[in-house]
Amino acid sequence: MSDIVDPRYEAFVEHLFQRTCLVLDMRGFMLKPLRRRLRGTGKYRTLMYGYTRIGVREITIDFYTPKTMKPRKTDAILRVICHELTHHQSPPRVCWYKGRFMRMDHHPRFWRKYKKNVECISKDDILGQYFS
Ligand SMILES: [Zn+2]
Repeated sequence: MSDIVDPRYEAFVEHLFQRTCLVLDMRGFMLKPLRRRLRGTGKYRTLMYGYTRIGVREITIDFYTPKTMKPRKTDAILRVICHELTHHQSPPRVCWYKGRFMRMDHHPRFWRKYKKNVECISKDDILGQYFS
């Protein structure tokens, strides 16, 4: 099964992404859709919504649900965009965790920043209407 591409939906996600970047004042970022070869089988069954690498202004997100290929709900998409952008604002840190030092991507400060970002976009005129 190949990835079904809905150009209108993908253009809509791109629009949401651009608006989120503007609201959070993150310039020059690019959005890439995650293309899965096979849906719902083998190693592609992971529940990964998106990923990004620090130092590269590129964010890859899965526009669709992993198994059924349905477009994700708008607020879910916005949260993933927000999550990935937060990684660039609040990079991984070395934290004291369970008795030793660990490099953590999702440390407490990250989640605080993420919460603030979500608040920010839910107050936006355009993006706010997609949060219920
Ligand atoms: Zn993350």
